[in-house]
Amino acid sequence: MLDPVAPRSRFHTSVSHYFDRAAALTSFEPGLLDQVKSCNSVYRMKFPVKDDDGNIVVVEAYRAQHSHHRLPGKGGIRFSLSVNQDEVVALASLMTYKCALVGLPFGGAKGGVCIDSKSSSVGFRERVTRRYTAELVKKNFIGPAIDVPAPDYGTGEQEMAWIADTYKALNFNELHPYACVTGKPLDLHGIPGRREATGYGVFLGIKQCLAHREDIEPLGLEPGVEGKRVIVQGLGNVGLYAARFLHDAGALIVGIAELGGGIYHPAGLDVNKVAAHFQANHTLRDYEPGTFIADSSAVLEMPCDILVPAALENQITAANAHKIQAKIVAEAANGPVDFDADEILAERGILVIPDLYLNAGGVTVSYFEWLKNLSHVSFDRMNSGYIESSKERMLSAVEMLTGRSIGEAERDLITAGPREIDFVRSALADTMELSYHNIRDLWKTRDTPDLRTAAYIFGIDRVARSYMAHGIFP
Ligand code: NAD
Repeated sequence: MLDPVAPRSRFHTSVSHYFDRAAALTSFEPGLLDQVKSCNSVYRMKFPVKDDDGNIVVVEAYRAQHSHHRLPGKGGIRFSLSVNQDEVVALASLMTYKCALVGLPFGGAKGGVCIDSKSSSVGFRERVTRRYTAELVKKNFIGPAIDVPAPDYGTGEQEMAWIADTYKALNFNELHPYACVTGKPLDLHGIPGRREATGYGVFLGIKQCLAHREDIEPLGLEPGVEGKRVIVQGLGNVGLYAARFLHDAGALIVGIAELGGGIYHPAGLDVNKVAAHFQANHTLRDYEPGTFIADSSAVLEMPCDILVPAALENQITAANAHKIQAKIVAEAANGPVDFDADEILAERGILVIPDLYLNAGGVTVSYFEWLKNLSHVSFDRMNSGYIESSKERMLSAVEMLTGRSIGEAERDLITAGPREIDFVRSALADTMELSYHNIRDLWKTRDTPDLRTAAYIFGIDRVARSYMAHGIFP
């Protein structure tokens, strides 16, 4: 049971409990596990920024580097008034195990800035972002080989562009300045597919889970995404794309929860229309068709097959876990299910697809963007034409041998060379498939209670073995 008066935040304590539960099932020595669990460095800063009226505002911010076993560190930057050191450290530790789990050569890191992204003007956000970047540069907390941020809650491509530009301005001799941050716009050395990567990865992960009949039949579900009733919490970057991909694959999005209320409609919602309504009105009130539910958290308790919390941590706790009607909880956000709730959901036979695995699509495609920025060439530039002409030759040989020829349109379809987005999507799909099999195998073949514990064991194992291979300096 989580201690309600513990000095650590609920989120941090949950991650710590998840780690300990998994670590107990490994055979690493306690000191090594302590190192794998510990956060290596935290930079807490306060800096002045002028608000839109010219007044000085002191902003509090953080960057945590949880692990240096691989460099650079990698992890998003969150803009939210609820940011605090505990939260940033917990998020950074999740990044360590996540990157290890999906086989990315990064340490875990995370940043947070205490401002309200939604109510801040563009000008204020730009001044805060640039000053935050300058603070990170001053302390050597950012750089292509040191620590590479990305978007998270409350930030997006625009903030990443400001970070890249500020870093470049302060490091004019740097050969790879754009590799200092990922999630950048396409016009500033970004990569196609990064914007929707986390949501697409969430969709792919759910699809993997739903492909195993023996795992989901006991939940009363048939394999496949089609026809599944889904509720999504949070229509931001992760939630919106996850909902769109699930909808396009035939799922029914029966509920959407946002700040200020949600909407429930058993016949299925049009995700794009709901998103457009929310963007225009900043509320889901008056959206039709569907029933408006003013208490947004009550939407999570409505009937569905799959609940996708894609907003923030601690959304499912001991207070509401026994009311969840979903058969699968798919953790698109980081830490949406706390430790107590996790135990209640397990007792109730509800399957949880853990954050460590499920939202790893974003950092995976960030890895591809970082590689692209280091090599200064897009993934299709060197081989797309070659692949296309090879396929042309092969098709011509088949036509010659069979004496039959194929139509123009069909020919173009078959021989088209891959574009960069094709490489990104297929490599992401491979990662999500392989990683799911890795954690599922561990869950099924060893004495591992659930997918989350399997994901932690996998991550801990890779980080611990890396530390052992490095040895301890001096
Ligand atoms: P975002 O800022 O783009 O969107 C979050 C949305 O959630 C907003 O629309 C906000 O209004 C809504 N929201 C906040 N509190 C809510 C509540 N109580 N009920 C309903 N809706 C609520 O953020 P995002 O980038 O989509 O991130 C969401 C989660 O996913 C976070 O936990 C983040 O750490 C995680 N994540 C994000 C990425 C990424 O690439 N952006 C990658 C991995 C994990």
